[in-house]
Amino acid sequence: MNKFTTIAAALALSAGAAWAQQSAPGQSNQVIQPDQASQAKPELLTPEQQLAKLTNRATAKVVYRGATLIAGNGQPARADMAIVVDGERIAAIVPAAQLDAALTKGAEMVDVGSSYVLPGLIDSHVHYATHPDRAYAEAELKRDLYAGITGVRDMAGDARLLGDLSRAAMINELAAPDIFYASLVAGPSFFQDPRTVTSSLGMGPGQAPWMYAVTDKTDIALAVAQARGTGATGLKIYANLPGPLVRKLVAEAKRQHFPVWTHMQVYPATPYDSLGATTVSHVCMIARYVREPNKVQYGHRDEPSYEGLDANDAGIRRYVAALAKSGTILDATLSVYQPAAEIAEKKAAHPHCARELAAAITRAAHAAGVTIIAGTDENATADDPLPQLFRELDMLVHDGGLSPQEAIAAATSNAARALGKDKEFGTLEVGKLANLVFVKNDPLQDVANLRSVMLTVKRGVRYAREDYHHAPIPVHDDI
Ligand SMILES: [Zn+2]
Repeated sequence: MNKFTTIAAALALSAGAAWAQQSAPGQSNQVIQPDQASQAKPELLTPEQQLAKLTNRATAKVVYRGATLIAGNGQPARADMAIVVDGERIAAIVPAAQLDAALTKGAEMVDVGSSYVLPGLIDSHVHYATHPDRAYAEAELKRDLYAGITGVRDMAGDARLLGDLSRAAMINELAAPDIFYASLVAGPSFFQDPRTVTSSLGMGPGQAPWMYAVTDKTDIALAVAQARGTGATGLKIYANLPGPLVRKLVAEAKRQHFPVWTHMQVYPATPYDSLGATTVSHVCMIARYVREPNKVQYGHRDEPSYEGLDANDAGIRRYVAALAKSGTILDATLSVYQPAAEIAEKKAAHPHCARELAAAITRAAHAAGVTIIAGTDENATADDPLPQLFRELDMLVHDGGLSPQEAIAAATSNAARALGKDKEFGTLEVGKLANLVFVKNDPLQDVANLRSVMLTVKRGVRYAREDYHHAPIPVHDDI
């Protein structure tokens, strides 16, 4: 028996009934003894207990003892630590040797010695409801959660399904990360895109508050307010808007304390108009701007040649410096760019930005002090038991120049900042939500070791990797 099995067995044994209850989504985590159930006495609950029951919140006190702690904020790892979780939050973090009677009183002890614990991971760029399909979305979310992902930023889809899924995730009806979604705004001409039709069915293109057309005549304060009213966490500025309108949207969202997430370029607005937003997505958009500065409308097709372009280009250097100065966070999405060799092999009719160029610009941005988050905008294949986020993190380290510690921050503390939720989660600190991932092998030695996930804890509820049995993600028609 190797050490991993020993820990897994210890986890299962030490946790007992409470473990089983907490591992099963949709079940109450209250442990009902058979003799209590048969007496069928009405339970006398305090209002606080009643609320915990209705919201299916974790209520148990649990001590995770012995892991090496990686806090997610760049601080050095600390060996042999103990995390005391009370309900859904972290109540204490101390060296395991300093656990005393007060800290362990009434707690279930879970021995996680020789593992590594870090904050739950966040994929900052997914699309799970562009063409709403519940079975598909639930399968993706489940694959994410059991791999250590406790939060996803969904960058625009049907807010009705996303709202429903996010509530189901919150009350543990679904095994899913917490879902933070965007409301999208764009120029009217963008709403011929078929993705906007499937995402707002019944409302008319550009009319849904989460998929909304704006012009110079729009009441921008109202557009932002109704975007917030969908339950979204942020405003996504997508395409086909002039610079002054992008700047106005960014300013209004900030005034309403609503995170604002834009494509790096919104056409005809330039990448400079997006600076000041909370985040910008898709790093190679700056390369396209440099090669095609007069493009007025969004479109994937007919990319210019990037021949001879590198991160030392004056236009790219100028933007990277401005991005660093602005404090805007970069959502590089290296996953959407193919390696040059693969592009060449496909003999594509049009040029594409190669991953090497995307990574070189990311590396330059990182060196200039730009904060980076890990967003994939791409799913792993249906038969892959692990999500794409691990590949994005591999690329951020091996191609983008981040250290493993910085890549972990990209998927934890930086991601929480992008969501405006850094007071709630993103680092392992007292008072924050108990969103934890335990991995067997040291991710600071090799970020690929995050794949050795053993246990995810989200809001105090446990999801053991051994309970995940991967079934291929359902076939999903999308545009
Ligand atoms: Zn996207």
